[in-house]
Amino acid sequence: MCRLLFLWLTFWGLTAVAAERPNIVIIYADDLGYGDLGCYGHPTLRTPNLDRMAQEGMRFTEFYSAAEVCTPSRAALLTGRYPVRSGMAHDRYRVLRSQSTGHLPEGEITLAEALQTAGYATGMVGKWHLGVWSNDPMGHPRRHGFDSFFGLPHSNDMDPVAGNPPRANTLAEQKAEWWNSPLYRNEELVERPADQTTLTRRYTEEAQRFIRENRRRPFFLYFAHTFPHTPLFASGAFRGTSQRGLYGDVVAELDWSVGQILETLRREKLDRKTLVVFSSDNGPWLIMNQQGGSAGLLRDGKGSTWEGGMRVPAIVWWPGRIKPGTVPEGIASTLDLFPTSLRLAGVQLPADRMVDGVDLTDLLLKGAPSPRQTMFYYRGTRLYAARSGRWKLHLQTQDGYGQPGPTVPDRPLLFDLATDPSERFDVGADHPEVIAGIQREIEAHRATVTPVESQLESVVAPSEPAKSGASGKP
Ligand code: MG
Repeated sequence: MCRLLFLWLTFWGLTAVAAERPNIVIIYADDLGYGDLGCYGHPTLRTPNLDRMAQEGMRFTEFYSAAEVCTPSRAALLTGRYPVRSGMAHDRYRVLRSQSTGHLPEGEITLAEALQTAGYATGMVGKWHLGVWSNDPMGHPRRHGFDSFFGLPHSNDMDPVAGNPPRANTLAEQKAEWWNSPLYRNEELVERPADQTTLTRRYTEEAQRFIRENRRRPFFLYFAHTFPHTPLFASGAFRGTSQRGLYGDVVAELDWSVGQILETLRREKLDRKTLVVFSSDNGPWLIMNQQGGSAGLLRDGKGSTWEGGMRVPAIVWWPGRIKPGTVPEGIASTLDLFPTSLRLAGVQLPADRMVDGVDLTDLLLKGAPSPRQTMFYYRGTRLYAARSGRWKLHLQTQDGYGQPGPTVPDRPLLFDLATDPSERFDVGADHPEVIAGIQREIEAHRATVTPVESQLESVVAPSEPAKSGASGKP
């Protein structure tokens, strides 16, 4: 027995020395578009900290969220699985609402849970949107692998007060008193309504504190911002500072926040031990007009399976390990952060389930080609489109929120994203063999998907109001 214990300790010691496990920080914006950062070409939005992060690290141009709205995209990020596999997708109810009783199922293994098995401290700051614990305690982040939590259960527009003006997209700006969002520390409600003008600043301070407190052990920080999802709020230091109006002020504050996180890592001498990923959960919310972002040259935005709905900014930073200023070719996805993080932490992938992510370690650290060849575009539980290499095939299309649809064309639409990233020219008639090839890939993928009950449908009964008094629009 002692001998076995000794051998185990030796093995553990050797592996710990051989590969120091990095800290992992994921910073996730809400509804930030592909065209909303300086380093992605926006002419007036100023994002000097994110631009510097890209210069010091790697900036992806073909990086995808696995969904076009909040809840399923977050489920995919934390599990490495298409949300249709976990029940975190629904064709009518696109996201969890404040009355929802569903949540990320207990049987799913989150990135936080997997990293906990390797001794990581795990913290979450910001918007969760994978369960409403006032309706079901299993909906809380601490039931899914996070040691600590500070933030909101869901989107910042889900708790309107009575008489709230309904047409948010026609207003120049929102008033704080129209919203009643609950702010929690762990399971405790600490502020309601949350002062949204100071949320970004307070989230940032929490994240900095988590980093400092855990500087002597490996940690995983999931920092999911509330903004630039509408209603938009920025703190006094940023109000009126941007040429791009309130949206620009809000993005400038998010950019400041990223700078603060990277500076904290430098100050604590953790920058060379920490992989930091910045991305967004889905494309810009275009029907919010000036309060929504931009997908740049990409077609459409949030709610759509056109590129603008799911191709998002992604910057990865790890000084000393990732070659500065690189822009890799090829496809990658938030799905891939799960297996990549597990590999870096020395944790085995779960063998009892399908994981859709691929390991990007060699791409990040050695400049190897992306191992990802395909991307499947789901809207709810339905597969709308698939990408294989440079080609994208649409079986059906849906423009973003508030638009009619879906539209099922007589024959699938084919776009060559290498020459036509804006998806303007259907070239299917010239390439029937490409269409047939992608259809075979779709069939092979579909054969791996088993329908499960959706978590997004069930809500608290009208006679049983939520314990916290949560109200919200459907
Ligand atoms: Mg979103």
